[in-house]
Amino acid sequence: MSESERFEILVLGSGAGGKLLAWHMAQSGRRTAVVERRWIGGSCPNVNCMPSKNEIHSAKVASLVRHGAEYGARTGPVEIDMGTVRELKRHMVDRQIAAHLHNYEASGTELIMGSGRFVAPRTLEVQLNDGGTRLLVGDRVFINVRFADPNTYSEQDRQHNYLQSSYPPFTYAVTTDPLSGIRDGILHRPRTDPLVMQVDSQSEFWQLHGSLNVVDGVGNPVAIPDNVRLYFVGNTAHAFISGSFLFPTPGTAPLCSNPTPGSGLNWETLRATLRNLDRWAVGNGQDNGEGNGQGNSQGTEPPKSNYPSLLDGTLVTRNAAAAAFPAIPNVIFPRCTTLTSC
Ligand SMILES: Cc1cc2nc3c(=O)[nH]c(=O)nc-3n(C[C@H](O)[C@H](O)[C@H](O)COP(=O)(O)OP(=O)(O)OC[C@H]3O[C@@H](n4cnc5c(N)ncnc54)[C@H](O)[C@@H]3O)c2cc1C
Repeated sequence: MSESERFEILVLGSGAGGKLLAWHMAQSGRRTAVVERRWIGGSCPNVNCMPSKNEIHSAKVASLVRHGAEYGARTGPVEIDMGTVRELKRHMVDRQIAAHLHNYEASGTELIMGSGRFVAPRTLEVQLNDGGTRLLVGDRVFINVRFADPNTYSEQDRQHNYLQSSYPPFTYAVTTDPLSGIRDGILHRPRTDPLVMQVDSQSEFWQLHGSLNVVDGVGNPVAIPDNVRLYFVGNTAHAFISGSFLFPTPGTAPLCSNPTPGSGLNWETLRATLRNLDRWAVGNGQDNGEGNGQGNSQGTEPPKSNYPSLLDGTLVTRNAAAAAFPAIPNVIFPRCTTLTSC
């Protein structure tokens, strides 16, 4: 074990809060260090906010060109070069990283690239990316990393250390998580479990762990309990924001945005859901309360769940998806999932 080094300010994670705090503290003369394992500046400039907007901008340009004729600007056939789209984005990210490194240097903050973990109060052991370890003690330690939370999204494309952001139970039914062996469910007290209706956009299903409601960690189907309904609103973005990055264009909506509704929450679906939930719960006013697997009430049965499912073929296995993925220049089907290393 290396000798410990003392800092007045020690920050774990170089995300939005951590880096600004560190730069400010260092500028005011405090010996400051930030420990970051991968993203200089955090996820926002590297893989989240800014790269996504950069790609959306490319999509917007493509959309404008495609719809040019509707505005009187005729062009020839349009071809998307994903390699250029990616390079443009990478160039933007590189500039962001350079600007961050400049700020680290100018403020006098030491950036330590490695993975940190607490080994004692206010003490971090850092596994350095270049090899070796450092032991850092902070007079004050600030944490800018996320902790285990079953609802934190999977970060499939950029990290696969499953348990960092994932902890069972993932779904309503009581199941045994195939990786951790933990047996648990969000609902496991039949006498008191509520009726549940969950409405998800496409983004929630694919990106935010929603799929783990119906598929376990190794891809086996998971049954939905009778007192739960899972409703999937296809072709919708995060929080049902459809087309929010786009101005209305005539003709077909660009970027596959859902023409109903134009923006904001999908109020129609949620209102209908609330009404159905009320009827389901109240019904004729009686509640059997027995947890007999038939649902907790004797109300009006709501519509069946329509979540994509392996059981009815509305969901396919990863291998089937990989086989059907179209050949797009410079685009590869993800080689790994949250649960399997690349
Ligand atoms: C596609 C996408 C688009 C988005 N667009 C927007 C947007 O337009 N506007 C907006 O406001 N928000 C947006 N967000 C959300 C935004 O990116 C996040 O809310 C924000 O980046 C979170 O910042 P943070 O500092 O909490 O975490 P992070 O930026 O994730 O910072 C945590 C850092 O800690 C590091 N770390 C973790 N564990 C360790 C460890 N043990 N040792 C060392 N380092 C460690 C990580 O590598 C990471 O760099 C978007 C998110 C996504 C996924």
